[in-house]
Amino acid sequence: MSQSHLQTDGLLFEEKPLHVPTLSELKKVIQGALNGNFASVHVSVGPCPDLKDSQFGLVKSGLGGKPTLLEAGGPPYLRPLVQREKLYNLKEITRKAQGPGQIFAVGPGAGPWPIRHSNCEGIFNFSLNEKDELKQGSYTATVRGDQEECVLERIPENEPRCALILNLFLSEGKPGDVLRISAKQRTGEENFVDCIRKGLEQHYGDKVVGLGGIFVVRKGCVHQHVMRDFSKTPIHTQEQIQQWLKFYEMPAQLNAVGTLVTKDMGLDLRLQHFHSFSFENWGGHYHYDTTPDVVEYEAYLNVAERVIRVDRPVVTDQLGRD
Ligand SMILES: [Zn+2]
Repeated sequence: MSQSHLQTDGLLFEEKPLHVPTLSELKKVIQGALNGNFASVHVSVGPCPDLKDSQFGLVKSGLGGKPTLLEAGGPPYLRPLVQREKLYNLKEITRKAQGPGQIFAVGPGAGPWPIRHSNCEGIFNFSLNEKDELKQGSYTATVRGDQEECVLERIPENEPRCALILNLFLSEGKPGDVLRISAKQRTGEENFVDCIRKGLEQHYGDKVVGLGGIFVVRKGCVHQHVMRDFSKTPIHTQEQIQQWLKFYEMPAQLNAVGTLVTKDMGLDLRLQHFHSFSFENWGGHYHYDTTPDVVEYEAYLNVAERVIRVDRPVVTDQLGRD
């Protein structure tokens, strides 16, 4: 695919600071929020486990150093018809956001459609060293064939692009303390991410807090979507979006990477967004678990110091944000 699809020059970058509570304060707020929604909850502050371990499958060990939320593009670029030229160079935008040094990026987005010849989900997990060399651990999930199977594939090592939508948690990948969260057996109606985010929003109000990292679904099944190929007919309504998405019940183990933030800060931020990969053929966008009696979540999250918004859609709405 020609480089003409890369849109890197002239992108608008906007930055705002976030409120940064201590991890021990966040621990109490999150424990309180999850207690109302899960039978067994344990939240602690402690060293991040080595996220390079095979059970996690990430390319760097920790979530420490210059913790930042980065959002590029957004769902409005898919509608009414896709803007195919919205391809972002992950190396360039994360370098511009973070400056020199190591960069570790995890989070959801739209996969680079040219390599799949189809729209697809992106589950991003990559690092850049000081020399700008890319290490890719990212995946795409694509709806394939007459049976509409979910197909999970690794993104090639030299592929630097994503498309349309991106929510990354950026850091230097350093070891260090994180929030360690265990929540088992869901007793309330809220999904795991909603529960944490709403608890933080209720507590912090107009002081905006952002988190990111990984959660692992150890047991149970989750309702997830994978975007089908770009719609050939215009999409205008939430109903049309629901029809266009392909939904699956995906079994554990699923490793979900992403971000949450309590308010949109006038930057048209997506308030929560997690995509997961598996060690089988499953991957997609997390909505909620479907097995409350057995579900087990385990999360490692760090608090971000700032938000960077890249290429914010000028014409926007709230469709397709859940
Ligand atoms: Zn998504």
